[in-house]
Amino acid sequence: MRLAELAGRGGPWGLRSRRVVGPHGSAGIGPATLRIEDGRISAVIRGAGPGALPPDDPLLPVCDVGDRVIGPGLVDCHVHVNEPGRTDWEGFQTATRAAAAGGVTTLVDMPLNCIPVTTTRAALEEKRRAAAGQLHVDVGFWGGVVPGNTGELAGLAAAGALGCKAFLVHSGIDEFPNATEADLRAAMPVLRDAGLPLLAHAELDLGLAGVAGDTGGDPRQYARYLRSRPSAWEDAAIALLIRLARETGCAVHVVHLSAASSLPQIARAKDEGLPLTVETCPHYLCLEAEAVPDGATEFKCAPPIRDHENREGLWWGLARGMIDFVVTDHSPCAPALKGRERGDFAAAWGGIASLQLGLPAIWTEARRRGHGLAEISTWMSARPAALAGLAGRKGRIAPGFDADLVVWDPEGEVTVAAERLHFRHKLSPYVGRRLAGRVEATLLRGRLVYDGAGHPAGPIGAALSGREARA
Ligand SMILES: [Zn+2]
Repeated sequence: MRLAELAGRGGPWGLRSRRVVGPHGSAGIGPATLRIEDGRISAVIRGAGPGALPPDDPLLPVCDVGDRVIGPGLVDCHVHVNEPGRTDWEGFQTATRAAAAGGVTTLVDMPLNCIPVTTTRAALEEKRRAAAGQLHVDVGFWGGVVPGNTGELAGLAAAGALGCKAFLVHSGIDEFPNATEADLRAAMPVLRDAGLPLLAHAELDLGLAGVAGDTGGDPRQYARYLRSRPSAWEDAAIALLIRLARETGCAVHVVHLSAASSLPQIARAKDEGLPLTVETCPHYLCLEAEAVPDGATEFKCAPPIRDHENREGLWWGLARGMIDFVVTDHSPCAPALKGRERGDFAAAWGGIASLQLGLPAIWTEARRRGHGLAEISTWMSARPAALAGLAGRKGRIAPGFDADLVVWDPEGEVTVAAERLHFRHKLSPYVGRRLAGRVEATLLRGRLVYDGAGHPAGPIGAALSGREARA
């Protein structure tokens, strides 16, 4: 039967493929039928032996997708939705449509660049109101740590924040000032006691003394922008975060690692057993400084996309678990702020639009390097779900988990076309690139939120709360 007829029906139904990710031990992939009931996976039915097709159940109507891969929906825990307040940059409706079209079934929204920033309980409640009725996928929320808001953190936790983010360097907007070491030392015990992680933008502004090369010159040059944010800034910030994790026992998560030079200290901290996790992003793994055209401000982000050798170092760290997972850091803005016509990297807003493209971008590069489908779902579903406290419900294909699923064709190739992007503004460094991996359907709690063209189930997504996630 067709997926559109079965998804969302009252009684149980089955979804079958020869390539289901998850219920097959270390090999990871094999034939199975997922029995879906009341929005959850109620059973994973396998064949009698390895590679054997699951038996037919005459009472279970089944949609067989053949060789198409069925994976757990992606969990993208680093997205800037910007609503309320900067909805002209991005909003819940456009962002969650893009997420569904990219196979993402849960996203977690960052506490900036919305207005107000999510640094108080009242602001989180305002954000929930803004999101209501607009969500095509499930959405959780990070709160923020800024100077002076330690007294708000317990309230943010009680109101359902999944964790709190701080910047160690200017955030780009004045309403979200960066935290000092003293601010972090005050905030981290409160987060630890609430069972929440601290997320940190890890760059410390050390100035540019001792940095090789000229930071003057033409602001259209990408190389000049790259020199203005050296990897030493990341190394210093991560060293500080490791010290604070050791001192406070608070779980620390480094967002968007760009500098491979920090991998040795990350590995040592993990070996020591410190509660440290690390993410990187598709743009650091798929793009490189040598290929960024001058004036192409759609490539600007902070920390910056670094050189080829650094990029290969990040893949090495990801393969060995020093980097835990990959999320997009989708962070668009109004096109005028990117200043594409002037191409001035110093003046342009930093942030890359890539929600909807994370899966094909990473798969294209991962398969060239010999990585498989099971690793993709570890990196893009299971581990980000765990950071957000959702590991008992999201990010895996297993009985009892939400039937959040992506059906995709890893052999299918697509050239990224602006008109097929569902996020608000179509300026993205991936436009025009040829990527492997075509998302054909996305299911949220067993319902079809994306069918390869549109969003038939409508805005059925829920706002997730930390307490229910941890319950
Ligand atoms: Zn971000």
